[in-house]
Amino acid sequence: MALEVFQQYINGAFEDASETFESLDPATGVAWAQMPMANESDVDRAVTAAHVAFTTGVWPTLNASARGKLLYKLADLMAADADVLAELETTDTGKIRRETRAVIMYIAEYYRYFAGLADKLQGAHFAVDKPNMEAYTRREPIGVVAAIVPWNSQMFLSAVKLAPALAAGCTVVLKASEDGPAPLLHFAKLVDHAGFPPGVVNIITGMGQSCGKALTSHPLVSRIAFTGGPATAKEIVANSANNLAVVSLELGGKSPIIVFEDADLESAANAIVSGIFAATGQSCVAGSRLLVQENVHKQLMEILVAKAKRIKIGDPQNLETEMGPLATKRQLTHVQDVLDRSVAQGAKLITGGKSPAGFAAGFYYEPTILDCEGSLVACVQEEIFGPVLSVLKFRDDAEALAMANDSEYGLASGVFTKDIGRAHRFVRSLRAGIVWVNTYRMISPMVPFGGYGQSGTGREAGAESILDYTRTKSVWINTSEEPISDPFIMR
Ligand code: NAD
Repeated sequence: MALEVFQQYINGAFEDASETFESLDPATGVAWAQMPMANESDVDRAVTAAHVAFTTGVWPTLNASARGKLLYKLADLMAADADVLAELETTDTGKIRRETRAVIMYIAEYYRYFAGLADKLQGAHFAVDKPNMEAYTRREPIGVVAAIVPWNSQMFLSAVKLAPALAAGCTVVLKASEDGPAPLLHFAKLVDHAGFPPGVVNIITGMGQSCGKALTSHPLVSRIAFTGGPATAKEIVANSANNLAVVSLELGGKSPIIVFEDADLESAANAIVSGIFAATGQSCVAGSRLLVQENVHKQLMEILVAKAKRIKIGDPQNLETEMGPLATKRQLTHVQDVLDRSVAQGAKLITGGKSPAGFAAGFYYEPTILDCEGSLVACVQEEIFGPVLSVLKFRDDAEALAMANDSEYGLASGVFTKDIGRAHRFVRSLRAGIVWVNTYRMISPMVPFGGYGQSGTGREAGAESILDYTRTKSVWINTSEEPISDPFIMR
């Protein structure tokens, strides 16, 4: 079967790259599309186009309300094209269709939210302590933004970068992940239809060590917005020494869900299942460490194992399917490797732990639960990014908190209890950028998202995130009619 061909989008034109690579359908392991592989020269052209668009032409003269209108239009085009985008994301990443479609409809809300904020950026006026002076600040767009995303949720992770950047008046070079770039390369057509001037949005893909490195070290880049793993983040921070760009990092997690004996166990179990098995566990906020109070451990495990065994694994395009494959063969090998090491270190396999029968061709893995005695096992320490839940028992609040905070990561956390005082104590003491109480995996354009520690710096979404795409200019105006006196004559 002929491969579907995707192009890159640079300076308002769709073009073939000089090199290409094949993308595999994770459900079959078979190549289905040919992707453009941007090299250093493509990156340079894209960044230069973004720089030219930022400094000359139509974009810098558009007022903020007009930028907002373009973003509203983009959101409408996205919602209208949700089926195509969802099909592409499912084919290229294995994420189930009923999730990709719902998520794309909701991502349009992120573009709308920031569209509405575009003309609400304000400077300040100061009651300044000098005679005859007016002083105020302007919020100006920071410049060319390099946006880099991983494979697992490219439409969402690019929206939380593109929408505030464009609303603020920046221009963008977006590098889609080399794994599953199809929906973002298609999204470029919507950007084009919406009418953004050439060079304002450029969408490319390519390998991290060539395309990603060239982009993050390019001297014309002023802002880097990165989502991915901590090791790549460290390389990007080193690359940014070249351009001194402002960097935000949204990294991985090993998020704990803490379930107390007073919790509604059935409700908690549903949240835990969604927290670890949705997106086949390939979610930065996956609730991959379950901490259970010892006297409800047995009961909760029984509920969870029953639910895990009932999950319908299958073709991700089928709307009945509840869990699809992992995105890549590399990820499948990684999940099995962590699992084998954890079992060798003493973790007890309760369910799953292998590829399901009948799915040998694709990159499928069973919903897996491990019971762990201590935290010194690989599955409790390392981010797996797969459908693997590690369960630990605790006796009391102090032990639960110590276990929850015993991680180099600090992205999300969940607390299930009916005790409001305890909920607040945990909200205060958990070292994590997000605490969900009696719920899990809630997100909204209005609420900031980001982590502590090795989970990164900076926050995405929420009104304040638009400020990270601006810089402040301070303005002083002398209102006096008197000439400035000779500075060398003392009065
Ligand atoms: P990754 O860090 O390997 O790659 C992410 C992106 O960085 C890709 O586009 C890649 O091409 C690019 N890249 C790689 N090397 C680069 C370099 N030297 N310079 C510039 N760019 C480079 O991550 P991944 O394996 O694709 O994704 C999984 C990771 O992303 C996990 O750790 C996961 O937790 C994290 N993640 C975090 C969030 C969040 O919001 N906190 C969301 C989703 C995923």
